[in-house]
Amino acid sequence: MLPVIALVGRPNVGKSTLFNVLTRSRDALVADLPGVTRDRHYGVCRLDAARPLMVIDTGGLSGSEDGLDGLSARQVRLAIEESQVVVFVVDARDGLLPQDRTIISELRRSGKPLIVGVNKTDGLDLDTVMAEFSAFGVAATVPLAAAHGRGSDLLLADVFPL
Ligand code: GDP
Ligand code: MG
Repeated sequence: MLPVIALVGRPNVGKSTLFNVLTRSRDALVADLPGVTRDRHYGVCRLDAARPLMVIDTGGLSGSEDGLDGLSARQVRLAIEESQVVVFVVDARDGLLPQDRTIISELRRSGKPLIVGVNKTDGLDLDTVMAEFSAFGVAATVPLAAAHGRGSDLLLADVFPL
């Protein structure tokens, strides 16, 4: 059984793009496991050949008051339950939004180790961006530019050792 990480966050922050980088696929719909719903997408990350990982891509969380209990978030909650580490993907261009605070407090409730992946940092001042998201107080906060294939090494360094 491979260790599992779940990619969680608002819509459009780049979760599927990151999934594709990690699993090196062009289609985030690939590798669905039999018996699971289509709303969670599974792939194997072999970027660290010695330590393959199962990655789950999820649909977006709105960060509304429904939190993780809303019907639309059920799949995300299941993905979190299945995972050993949760990667909370945020959008550096949007900055830290109130919805992100709602989501992260829900994620903390899961008790799972948390990594914040600050995506879309391409072209931005890294120090400024990372200072903003340090407000979450999560030690493992890494800059990403998934669309450019950047940051997966930093992310994996925080995933291991599990
Ligand atoms: P999801 O809804 O969280 O799965 O987000 P997607 O992976 O579908 O990406 C949403 C949009 O953000 C797409 O247009 C991507 O091309 C874009 N995007 C993803 N990663 C990056 C990035 O690192 N930099 C920039 N500038 N855009 C990105
Ligand atoms: Mg997606």
